[in-house]
Amino acid sequence: MTEDTPSSSDANLILVLGDQLSPDLPSLCAGDPDRDIVLMAEVASEASYVPHHPKKIAFLFAAMRHFAEELRNEGWRVRYVELEDTGNSQSLSREVERALEDLPGHALLLTEPGEYRLKTELEEWAERAGTPMRMLEDSRFIASHAEFRDWADGRKQLRMEYFYREMRRKTGLLMHGDEPEGGRWNFDSENRKPARDDLFMPRPLEHRPDETTEAVLDLVERRFGDNFGRLKPFWFAVTRAQALDALDHFAEEALPCFGDYQDAMLEGERFLYHSVLALYINAGLLGPLEVCHRVERAYHEGSAPLNAVEGFIRQIIGWREFVRGIYWMQMPGYTEQNFFGATRPLPDFYWSGETDMACMAAAIGQTRDEAYAHHIQRLMVTGNFAMLAGVDPHEVHEWYLAVYADAYEWVEAPNVIGMSQFADGGLLGSKPYAASGNYINKMSDHCAGCAYDVKKKTGDGACPFNPLYWDFLVRNRKKLGNNPRLAQVYRTWDRMESDRQSEYLDSARAILDRL
Ligand SMILES: Cc1cc2nc3c(=O)[nH]c(=O)nc-3n(C[C@H](O)[C@H](O)[C@H](O)COP(=O)(O)OP(=O)(O)OC[C@H]3O[C@@H](n4cnc5c(N)ncnc54)[C@H](O)[C@@H]3O)c2cc1C
Ligand code: SF4
Repeated sequence: MTEDTPSSSDANLILVLGDQLSPDLPSLCAGDPDRDIVLMAEVASEASYVPHHPKKIAFLFAAMRHFAEELRNEGWRVRYVELEDTGNSQSLSREVERALEDLPGHALLLTEPGEYRLKTELEEWAERAGTPMRMLEDSRFIASHAEFRDWADGRKQLRMEYFYREMRRKTGLLMHGDEPEGGRWNFDSENRKPARDDLFMPRPLEHRPDETTEAVLDLVERRFGDNFGRLKPFWFAVTRAQALDALDHFAEEALPCFGDYQDAMLEGERFLYHSVLALYINAGLLGPLEVCHRVERAYHEGSAPLNAVEGFIRQIIGWREFVRGIYWMQMPGYTEQNFFGATRPLPDFYWSGETDMACMAAAIGQTRDEAYAHHIQRLMVTGNFAMLAGVDPHEVHEWYLAVYADAYEWVEAPNVIGMSQFADGGLLGSKPYAASGNYINKMSDHCAGCAYDVKKKTGDGACPFNPLYWDFLVRNRKKLGNNPRLAQVYRTWDRMESDRQSEYLDSARAILDRL
């Protein structure tokens, strides 16, 4: 443990969490380096409540150690507890308790944790211990909890698009007074092109590990080397300066095509034109607004088109803020939702990548190597398959929480439980994102090299997504039959010959039995 000497009473112990690595963190802004002590701790309870990908753990520990060093350079006194330090109790609340034993008279000051679980743990501990605690709202988001609740209050349906418009007005991003840039709020209709393999694909900026990061890599290899996922090569940014370089690199190299190919998938191309910035934004190395301003600047300078820039900004001030609002409105209990009553265990190949479905093997394989898959892979490949197969959404949720470097419950759970599994019954989306192999074939080149035939609907060798799609709809008709957005699909089913229907359902049964 590294620690600088404490001074006065009447001072604060400022707890800084692993996803609070921001110089403008409210609790740091409210503190005083001459009086207060910062506490940061690597603890097993946080590193192993799900089997996190080794790259994710390494990223967070390395970024935390660098951030602590930056705080020291700015004059803060920092008590930093490393995972293997003698005396490390391996729990955050216990580390706070230990620090306060050494610092009598200090009160606990922190910014609200992003996850309900940790917020509750700390609140309950403070009450039990009778420790004065001040928890500040996290102002690094664009909408406060109260603003989201006010917006949601009284609405029959919560739809991201309307919330997003509010956020555009609030931030002034891509606005001319009250009017949206280009006369429209949303340019998504221009954003659904399949990619071609002759396009130039930039890679995200890669960073060489320094001595501090190498020490973390050794630690993670030793302690978490058996978790799903490859630790090396490790190339993530671990400081704010590096993350800002990654942002510039994205804005210059990939942003111009971000919109066009946002939904595309290509064999061997793991990042396409995606930013790979979510892990930096979620850990606090980059602010969501500064990212949007950088991207908006590219539009005003003429280096990126409006459909790309609007699409990107919508993901951040629209989707990212919207899912956070849903999470805090719905917790506790949201991660237990199971609208379809699905009970199947998560198939083993989610952890091994060993499947002859080429699209699934690609998404899981790159997840293992990079702790990354882009949105459409998460939603329309691994997520879609799990929902069609009737996998227990809680198991799906825990998998996503473990395997992605950008995964924190507040953002992961609404995307998995709500968007991808429809386990909240339609709070977040108006219909399930269920699709047959046809969608994957349209948006990717995976099917050409697959053991299955995407054009074959049933029987041996048929793409498993085809019969599973119909089986899912039929199985859940009582719950989905009245959804107007699915009326046409159910009419198609009803018009099918009964023999054909049986072939679909028999094929699905055979696939599910093999899982
Ligand atoms: C099943 C499923 C699970 C997901 N789990 C996570 C997760 O754990 N953590 C996470 O940050 N995102 C999650 N997402 C949202 C999205 O897939 C990731 O944010 C994105 O793939 C991260 O890669 P990127 O930085 O290259 O994003 P880009 O494609 O470059 O998008 C730009 C930014 O927009 C934001 N963003 C885009 N879509 C969303 C969204 N639906 N919700 C919130 N923010 C969004 C992210 O900050 C992202 O960096 C999930 C989506 C699905 C369907
Ligand atoms: S044929 Fe089916 S399983 Fe194979 S890659 Fe295409 S969609 Fe995936």
